[in-house]
Amino acid sequence: RGDPRLEAISEAIRVVPHFPKQGIMFQDITTLLLDPKAFKDTVDIFVDRYRDMDISVVAGVEARGFMFGPSIALAIGAKFVPLSKPRKLPGKVISEAYELEYGTDCLEMHIGAVQPGERALVIDDLIATGGTFSAAIRLLERVGAEVVECACVIGLPEVKGQCRLNGKPIYILVEPR
Ligand code: AMP
Repeated sequence: RGDPRLEAISEAIRVVPHFPKQGIMFQDITTLLLDPKAFKDTVDIFVDRYRDMDISVVAGVEARGFMFGPSIALAIGAKFVPLSKPRKLPGKVISEAYELEYGTDCLEMHIGAVQPGERALVIDDLIATGGTFSAAIRLLERVGAEVVECACVIGLPEVKGQCRLNGKPIYILVEPR
């Protein structure tokens, strides 16, 4: 708020009604990626926030956390660790299930990718209920890492995602238009 870049970032995100199903207002960040200025501003805002926080791991949630996480990791001198959907990672993994509107899904992380005591940032495009971030936090904490913060581009206001994050701070750039 007060940062003129946020207005342009918000406007670069396309809203697609009723995708992938009736009633969902899908926030499409692929149009943000088409706008090099808004895309760079998005990454820069995260980099400015995290560069001096002694973060050694940026953990990105598949798939749209993969679109922002590596750029942030390179700029702050951290490693990038993918938190992937089931059966995508070839090595030995640990898994955490989380609730969806209908049924459950799962995130997996390679064993050995993160060491005990490492300081981690978790990145995704959007928080709704916070279930996805919660599973990501559990994965990192199971291997002894400290989750410094969760960050995303868009926060849905009608869902109090913060409640599900077990006290971990969440950093959000914009709300849906
Ligand atoms: P949640 O676990 O409820 O916080 O949901 C967040 C995850 O679901 C993120 O990985 C988002 O990419 C995706 N997601 C949920 N709702 C939307 C939406 N309205 N538009 C785009 N992505 C969404």
